Amino acid sequence: MSACDHPGLLPVEAALERLLALAEATPITQSERVALAAAQGRVLAEPLIASLDLPPWPNSAMDGYALRQADWRGEPLLVSQRIFAGQAPAPLEPGTCARIFTGAPLPDGADSVEMQENAEVLADGRVRFSEPIKPGQHVRPQGQETRKGETVLVAGTRLRAIELGLSAALGAAELTVVRRPRVAVLSTGDELIEPGQPLGPGQIYNSNRTLLCSWLQQLGCAVLDAGILPDDLHKTRTKLGELADVDLILSTGGVSVGEADFLGHALREDGELALWKLAIKPGKPLTFGHFRGVPVIGLPGNPASTLVTFALLARPYLLRRLGVVEVTPLHFPVPAGFAWRKPGNRREYLRARFERGRAVLYPNQSSGVLRSAAWAEGLVEVREGTTLAEGDSVNFFPLSELLT
Ligand code: AMP
Ligand code: MG
Repeated sequence: MSACDHPGLLPVEAALERLLALAEATPITQSERVALAAAQGRVLAEPLIASLDLPPWPNSAMDGYALRQADWRGEPLLVSQRIFAGQAPAPLEPGTCARIFTGAPLPDGADSVEMQENAEVLADGRVRFSEPIKPGQHVRPQGQETRKGETVLVAGTRLRAIELGLSAALGAAELTVVRRPRVAVLSTGDELIEPGQPLGPGQIYNSNRTLLCSWLQQLGCAVLDAGILPDDLHKTRTKLGELADVDLILSTGGVSVGEADFLGHALREDGELALWKLAIKPGKPLTFGHFRGVPVIGLPGNPASTLVTFALLARPYLLRRLGVVEVTPLHFPVPAGFAWRKPGNRREYLRARFERGRAVLYPNQSSGVLRSAAWAEGLVEVREGTTLAEGDSVNFFPLSELLT
């Protein structure tokens, strides 16, 4: 089903395309050197180029004996040296073998390792290898993982445990990363109060603030918690004006075209505004604009809508501004553990988890229910105009992937 079937509703991929184009127009290019321990979650600003071969020298993959394959004739060999990891061996005396341990350098002259389980130590100390030796067996050749000069991680790579471990293996103590984006989180709504205070009539606790601040920190952002903004045009304008030095203002609530659309009013007056009605559920209203030059994304206020629109739109936008190339969240087809009989005009992202190899849905998919996402392992995508029978294939977006 195409967007033309529902005029006025912007398909998710079209919205994403626009957001990514806007992100590319305002990249965050400043970088800084940070120690590996401080690089978690950050984005590499320069490629990581191997300054050495990995491994730097051929070494043993086993505890056993190093030998020259051509010396093997089934006859016992004399053990001419013992080589532990961390030692620099002497060249192998021809016609002998060397006792060797995992990770120890192979001595010059040796080309193979036999594991100790296949070695028989004779009373006179010589060792017999009963199995024929294949050249190169149980040897990790120099540079098998990486050659000096190779690009190991490209600029724009997000640094997590594995990338940091790999950098350490290459001897890098510091990395050049993109500076942290400064993101202001603004919660709008007269009904909101912070946890820890007694709940008055008509009030609810502000959950989006904590959800987004925590998530943004995971993404390596410098988060400015701009608190709760009442539904008031003057206060909205004043607050937005105070946030002049951030890279992004991320607000929730007050984006529907209702009377309490103060964010929209403020942007219209003092900047620019695009108000999108997205073909997405939960979600739909999303604001993108600028307030005196500062980009603003207004997410819908219902917590599950906040989660889905942040995951699928704001997160990729932010990552792209940092130069991350691959911003589309990982997803893969899985069998549906449910039927979908009524085709919708919006793309649904349903909170789901696996049971017996099929994605099953949380019973209450209301956009106000954040508990659905706490229960879920991922989001199942049901496209516009689709019906499904149990067992049909649906796209699954793991939350573990989206949240980092
Ligand atoms: P709005 O977009 O402002 O009309 O809000 C839509 C729904 O989301 C309303 O039920 C709000 O009470 C709720 N909501 C808005 N902001 C938050 C928030 N920060 N935390 C929890 N719920 C919110
Ligand atoms: Mg509101």
